[in-house]
Amino acid sequence: MGPSFNPTPAMPMPSTQPVRRLVTVVRRVALAALFAAAAPALHAAEEPVLNLYSARHYQTDEALYANFTKATGIKINRIEAGDDQLLERIRTEAAQSPADVLLIVDAARLWSAQQQGLFQPVKSAVLAERIPAALRDPAGDWFGFSSRARVIVYNKAAISPADVPSYESLADAKNKGRVCTRSGSHPYNLSLVAALIDHLGEPGTEKWARGVVANMARTPRGGDTDQIKAVAAGECGVALTNTYYYVRLMRSTKPEERDWAAKVGLVWPDQASYGTHLNVAGAGVLKHAPHPENARRFLEYLASDEAQAYFANGNNEWPAVKGAVAKNPELESLGNFKADPLPIAVLGRNTPAAQKLLDRAGWK
Ligand code: FE
Repeated sequence: MGPSFNPTPAMPMPSTQPVRRLVTVVRRVALAALFAAAAPALHAAEEPVLNLYSARHYQTDEALYANFTKATGIKINRIEAGDDQLLERIRTEAAQSPADVLLIVDAARLWSAQQQGLFQPVKSAVLAERIPAALRDPAGDWFGFSSRARVIVYNKAAISPADVPSYESLADAKNKGRVCTRSGSHPYNLSLVAALIDHLGEPGTEKWARGVVANMARTPRGGDTDQIKAVAAGECGVALTNTYYYVRLMRSTKPEERDWAAKVGLVWPDQASYGTHLNVAGAGVLKHAPHPENARRFLEYLASDEAQAYFANGNNEWPAVKGAVAKNPELESLGNFKADPLPIAVLGRNTPAAQKLLDRAGWK
């Protein structure tokens, strides 16, 4: 099933008297007419187009976008590039940007985009009801549409999972020479450390980071898949990875990749305390979006049960919407776990402190 945390209850709709509602409608119509007369261009219906800047490129996304177009008549123009390239492009294009929606991964990046003022808030009762409060920005600048957990993998032949029950344990003396990770500057690690800052405080987290650095089997390098591969090969005893990299290997058509997955075990860290760190893939409507209404409709579509299944499955993640089913047997085989309920928005705020702390600790 996946992570468990309490989603926000549905936002109650105010009960309105019929008469008052009629008055409101009349007022709205009158106002709209006024605006239409004053500035007709502003209220011309949006052309049925949505310009999407996406850091995702999965096969299931094709069906996702085709179904949106079928349901709404809105055509999607897609620009696909890396997360950081898209952010750079939007900054460069500034007010001239044709981008309506930005789709990227990780709390640290979403927060950074927000800090740079790239988004405009979206007010949507559908999104407020469907997306759990912990997985979206309180102001509506961005919404998480799928979640992934940052877990510990260990070499089954060499290491007992009892040696690594928590993120904290990666700094224990008994794990000396065992730990592999990717760079300390990577958003996945920054977001994890941002969560730890909330739980352990800055001095406690820095002490932990120094302990992890002292336990490293090698200088940080490669992506999460490289860490899993190195653990399978016995070059490292334990490593940090996002869940979808592990599931991707489990589902691989290449026997050697399935073999790597088979050689490592997975630990849900900190089940006895605050829970395993969760992160999101998320999207927001851009400040200069030429089609903000189409953009809002697209985000609402992403929160539908059908779109959630496609979206989550594309990258072996869990749907953000409670009750949406991904139908991914390998992902489901990982079982249930307690997820850290810390709001994703809090992680972003702690990111700058996390980077400074990791630099001080020598986590390259
Ligand atoms: Fe990734």
